[in-house]
Amino acid sequence: MKKDNPESEIKSLIKAIERHNSLYYVQNKPEISDYEYDLLYKRLEQLEREFPHLKSDTSPTMRVGGDQVEGFASVVHSVPMMSLDNTYSENELINFHIRTEKILGKENKWTYVVEPKIDGVAISLRYLNGKLALGITRGDGRVGDDITANIKTVRSIPLHLPEGSSSDTLEVRGEVFISKPNFVALNEDRRSKDLELFANPRNAAAGSLKNLDPQITAGRKLDAIIYGIAEHEHRFESHLDILSELSSLFFKVPPKFWYCKTIQDVITAIEELKELKQGFPFDIDGAVIKVNELKYYEELGQTAKSPRWAIAFKYAPEQVETVLKEITLQVGRTGVITPVAELEPVFVDGSTVSRATLHNFEDMRRKDIRIGDKVFVEKAGDIIPVVVAVNLSARTGKEVVFPEPDACPVCSQPVTKTEGEVAIRCDNLQCPAQMKRWIEH
Ligand SMILES: [Zn+2]
Repeated sequence: MKKDNPESEIKSLIKAIERHNSLYYVQNKPEISDYEYDLLYKRLEQLEREFPHLKSDTSPTMRVGGDQVEGFASVVHSVPMMSLDNTYSENELINFHIRTEKILGKENKWTYVVEPKIDGVAISLRYLNGKLALGITRGDGRVGDDITANIKTVRSIPLHLPEGSSSDTLEVRGEVFISKPNFVALNEDRRSKDLELFANPRNAAAGSLKNLDPQITAGRKLDAIIYGIAEHEHRFESHLDILSELSSLFFKVPPKFWYCKTIQDVITAIEELKELKQGFPFDIDGAVIKVNELKYYEELGQTAKSPRWAIAFKYAPEQVETVLKEITLQVGRTGVITPVAELEPVFVDGSTVSRATLHNFEDMRRKDIRIGDKVFVEKAGDIIPVVVAVNLSARTGKEVVFPEPDACPVCSQPVTKTEGEVAIRCDNLQCPAQMKRWIEH
């Protein structure tokens, strides 16, 4: 992609981000890893900072998220559900500490708590008179979906608070997720029924929570970890106090957390967590770092989207270089033709990878992927291999561009491309690659 024209780069970034937002939030079918998404997003933020006159009110950087689904009632959050600022770099973490120090002053003493960042779906639970009254998704941070019926199927979420407990009206925040073993079992079951597979545990959890039929949600065996209280009217002094209160109310809290007196301790904790993360029964994509003393929260305040008393540190996925030997075509049952990279087998994040999706031809062109290229491969959501980028400095000039097909590789009929759509498809109803679909329906 040409980088010398910021206006057109911003335009193309917005187009890509909006498309991936829809795939991620609406269709639960992400095509790129969080890391790739974050790179696009951070590049857009950077350009908008450099060229503020090019920033539009409707830029995707202007909102927290957008996961609302039709069919659920909207609820306004009593306290906005902000998203955390995130970073992949230790330097930015140190900058976070320096900013905290600047605001609070060196004479103040504060500490940090580091928790695993669970790769699930953020939720808010409201208890009234001791009973679970409302379960809400984050939505855009201000308004979310009422998913109470589905939340009630999650067995680790108490339906009522213990009798005689000091808090009987309470709003807590946490994360709903599906465990790794349950995710594998769910996808195996779907494969046996010829249903589309979930891309990763988080998408399975999101899709299940936003299912209009609570019976289906119940079958997904979701789980939840609670790590915050939205409104506490100064009843607690520290985040550690909140965790221990949640625990005494029988919420499942993060299974491990670190109390850190210095930013160096924080960095050590993050390294420790990275070593431990494969051992947790759920996906962890990073660490959450929070200032422990609640009395500083007001002074630290917030940016437009995120509190300044917390930050998320994300682990960049392992990227491995290998040779792209060939590109083949796959025709899905809906007729969509997908390019697939045939790779020199390589070991990535715990398993050998020899094929990776190239998503679609537009994405392939954007990344300028050619046959014979040295490419970087990673696993999206720790599971599905994708080609992230080409090692351009390793080009020899012998690499071959793979053209868009004119004909279906299975039935040889001409392909079609709808204006404004990325997919190239075979519309031949007799195409053997698609026959199964028509027999079933
Ligand atoms: Zn065909």
